[in-house]
Amino acid sequence: MKVLVPVKRVIDYNVKVRVKADGTDVDLANVKMSMNPFDEIAVEEAVRMKEGGKATEVVVVSCGATACQETLRAALALGADRAILVESDVALQPLAVAKLLKAVVAKEAPGMVVCGKQAIDDDSNQVGQMLAALLGWPQATFASKVTLGDNNVTVTREIDGGLETLELKLPAVVTTDLRLNEPRYATLPNIMKAKKKPLETLKPDALGVDVTPRLKTLKVAEPPKRAGGVKVADVAQLVDKLKNEAKVLG
Ligand code: AMP
Repeated sequence: MKVLVPVKRVIDYNVKVRVKADGTDVDLANVKMSMNPFDEIAVEEAVRMKEGGKATEVVVVSCGATACQETLRAALALGADRAILVESDVALQPLAVAKLLKAVVAKEAPGMVVCGKQAIDDDSNQVGQMLAALLGWPQATFASKVTLGDNNVTVTREIDGGLETLELKLPAVVTTDLRLNEPRYATLPNIMKAKKKPLETLKPDALGVDVTPRLKTLKVAEPPKRAGGVKVADVAQLVDKLKNEAKVLG
């Protein structure tokens, strides 16, 4: 079975995000970019499926600018076999990505798509769900455990009240949560080998997908700065402040 893993190039999670002076977007000039952390977990899970003899091929796909090739090479260095770049200079919104992935699925016919649960740049948490809906496939989101059977997959997901276990018929879409696995580090020999693995480039037009943005960003703003704390003299003053200033006590 072939496993398809969509990987997004996002601002590195260690970077302190700055907003552009004109408030139109986040400032990405000279900022370190990396693979979305949930997608690293998805790649790791797919590679483990292959190592465990359950998957035959791991194909990674990224939609976006030419620089996404770096993200794809990083995924190849983690053990993916082959990469597809759907190249577009348009800022791709979740619905456009889901449509592009649907077209890639039609071309590649994977038995399973494993995505991240959300991209840490815009925190949309939409692509996996939309893709499953467009394909008419079952979906299990926020997976913390994935067990592959012959024609099905069992997924444990973390929900408010505890753990929920679902069994889905394949093909299916699964999205990864943080506790699913701990991704490996790419070794130098694997980084070198990744440079030689196949990377195919496709264009949205060739896939018959219109990627025109449907949503308009009105404004991007920094969160309000946290005000400094104060020391209270005693419990009575603390209770007074909680009641009368924070108004969190009745
Ligand atoms: P989102 O719905 O945007 O929060 O993203 C959820 C997941 O969809 C990500 O973790 C990726 O697996 C996938 N994804 C989102 N955007 C892209 C993209 N531009 N290229 C490839 N995969 C993407």
